[in-house]
Amino acid sequence: MIHIQSLQKKFQNIEAVSSINLKLEEGQTIALLGPNGAGKTTTFRMLSGLIKPTSGTIQFDQVIPNSDRRHYIGYLPQYPHFHGWMTGYEFLLLMGELSGMTKADAKERAELLLKKTGLAEAKHKRINGYSGGMKQRLGIAQAMIHQPKLLILDEPVSSLDPVGRRDVLNLLKTLKSETTILFSTHILSDAEEISDYLVVMNQGKIVEQGQVHDLEKKYQKQIIKFGVD
Ligand code: ATP
Repeated sequence: MIHIQSLQKKFQNIEAVSSINLKLEEGQTIALLGPNGAGKTTTFRMLSGLIKPTSGTIQFDQVIPNSDRRHYIGYLPQYPHFHGWMTGYEFLLLMGELSGMTKADAKERAELLLKKTGLAEAKHKRINGYSGGMKQRLGIAQAMIHQPKLLILDEPVSSLDPVGRRDVLNLLKTLKSETTILFSTHILSDAEEISDYLVVMNQGKIVEQGQVHDLEKKYQKQIIKFGVD
């Protein structure tokens, strides 16, 4: 679905991402695991077209102009911004219309996603009153509003309390069967629970990748020590 070749990003003299190669297959749930500063966010921002690589290529399974990449990808940043005075429903409608949907389509999609993310009962509450986990689930709904082929979620559970974290992990488990997901985390157990393919990054480089069960066998279920929690 996406073929990344020799992808590199430099910020002045900092090499945030250092010549990585990766293939994402349709239907996979891929976890990008790595400590702070590993280059996960920078990789996501390049994939989403928000920043340009210094060198290397990102090849999609179809021709997509840079400006259309946001239709192909639904991106939830690590620190999403919500209009807190709006209700969850109003917010999703707005996001749907901003992504080019008709009002009727946006309404239908918003209703569906509110149900799917367990927010139907809270849809007329202001977002400011949502818990961290509810906000994150709304963020996932927002990223999915335009039915992207690939969902990219930057550390979707790292800022959450245990209840919110469990709710979001359960949601990701249900979404797995219907879309391709690439998400980042620095917690190995989250990656193991949700993903089927694991990519470990450290200091801008991919230091390990493979099917989760193969890596578990290889490391005999020991914690993989790449500076990861
Ligand atoms: P975290 O878990 O902390 O978000 P990460 O794996 O997402 O970490 P990145 O945010 O991609 O890592 O950062 C990789 C490196 O690039 C870090 O050293 C960071 O300081 C640097 N970096 C990222 N964005 C910029 C920028 N806009 N300007 C300068 N340096 C940057």
